[in-house]
Amino acid sequence: MKSAKEKILIVEDERDIRHALQYNLKREGYDVVCASDGKAALAAFQKSKPDFVILDIMLPHVDGLEVLRQIRRESSTPVLILTAKTKEMDRILGLRLGADDYMVKPFSVGELIARIQGILRRASVVSDGAADGQLTIGSMQVDWARYDVAISGHPAQLTPKEFALLKLLIDAKGKVLSREHILESVWGHDKQSQLDTRTVDQHIARLRRKLKGERERIATVATAGYKFVSTPLKP
Ligand code: CA
Repeated sequence: MKSAKEKILIVEDERDIRHALQYNLKREGYDVVCASDGKAALAAFQKSKPDFVILDIMLPHVDGLEVLRQIRRESSTPVLILTAKTKEMDRILGLRLGADDYMVKPFSVGELIARIQGILRRASVVSDGAADGQLTIGSMQVDWARYDVAISGHPAQLTPKEFALLKLLIDAKGKVLSREHILESVWGHDKQSQLDTRTVDQHIARLRRKLKGERERIATVATAGYKFVSTPLKP
């Protein structure tokens, strides 16, 4: 468990929403930092190093998707995006760019807080439960405690979801996991009605790209799901 208060960056140009979120998150005991446009968001992210980011997509100057892209270049901090009801593409693109979750406006602040708590809890379960050191498989080094995956010494920069996905597969020790099982385990109580097994496939595809030369360790088992291969790969 973290001893310090967790810090949340709220990026939202609509003043009423920003203030409501700020008020409620502070009341829940979080440290809160706010930004009202994309440029300010990137500056605040660098400066305050938040544990969580709530990111509106429609923003002045630099839009939320670009902010997300820039955050993901250097960090796996959990990000939840806020999108308008009609902007299905924003949602899909946001998840593809590595957002951990999304909420459609108008949303309930209570539900948003529950989602944040869930994501932060899962992130800490992954790191707490795995505090027992390091693992090397081929050119991949995993440091469970530090939440770190490197390929030939280069950081793979996994998002928390990708990390959780990799851990789930490695922990299964070669057992085939169905897409449904993966969805349930990694996404938990997120709105499953709006996520489906294609989400799993998209995240697997991204994870494989980041694993570079070790990508074949995540094997597709026709119609059944995915498994992790820890034996030496064929050259
Ligand atoms: Ca907006």
